[in-house]
Amino acid sequence: MSFSRQQIKLKSADQVDKMQASADILASVFLEVRKLVRPGVTTGGLDEAIEAMIRDAGGVPSFKGYHGFPGSACISVNEEVVHGIPGPRELRDGDIVGIDIGVIRDGWHADSAETLPVGNVDAEAARLLRVAQECLGRGIAAIAPGERVSVVGVAIEEHARAHGYAVVESLVGHGIGRDLHEDPQVPNFRCYTMPDPVMEEGLVIAIEPMINAGTKRVVTARDEWTIVTADRALSAHFEHTVAVTADGPRVLTQRGTGVAAF
Ligand code: MG
Ligand code: MG
Repeated sequence: MSFSRQQIKLKSADQVDKMQASADILASVFLEVRKLVRPGVTTGGLDEAIEAMIRDAGGVPSFKGYHGFPGSACISVNEEVVHGIPGPRELRDGDIVGIDIGVIRDGWHADSAETLPVGNVDAEAARLLRVAQECLGRGIAAIAPGERVSVVGVAIEEHARAHGYAVVESLVGHGIGRDLHEDPQVPNFRCYTMPDPVMEEGLVIAIEPMINAGTKRVVTARDEWTIVTADRALSAHFEHTVAVTADGPRVLTQRGTGVAAF
């Protein structure tokens, strides 16, 4: 526990404000991406548009070249959970598409994801999207200074299970700041094997539940990047970068106002 505590880099109010600038770029990019997602568009086309929007806004895509990742966004379709590589694949009516984007500006990262319907999706897919987004909201709502990080995962898992869904356990949320991935790890489930530090004011974390319609188990595709559900059932991913303040959670990547946590 003490080892973990030493790795956590708390942010000053000024530093959180700098992260807010990166997060603002992300929020505006997502509002535009929602308009671009439709049948016939390619994931590579979306990625190009996303990179252009980030750079036009004065940011740099955090993921481009990260451990060799070729895209600016991770774009994951249907049974793909996360880390999908953008390319020639055309989105089809009824697909769901997870889009995960990081932005760095003035040395500070923000990280966010949402999963969108393509055209008209069936009721099961729509329910998964709604519940997965609610899971993120529940995780965020559990944040309070003095609570342990584990309250986030407990809240997420309870909501997912109540709707018959499974939470991916092999990938977790994370601290974020000057590095895209910092301590602590933020599991989206009740976890007994990771350090469980107390959340203090100035902690900034990316909460990112991956909610599966079937099994929680995932496998890595042949491209060695894309994570896919083991049973090929649908998966949805939502993520916000959130600062812990004295008053509770501050969602840095909030998309404007009026649409729940988004
Ligand atoms: Mg992300
Ligand atoms: Mg992340």
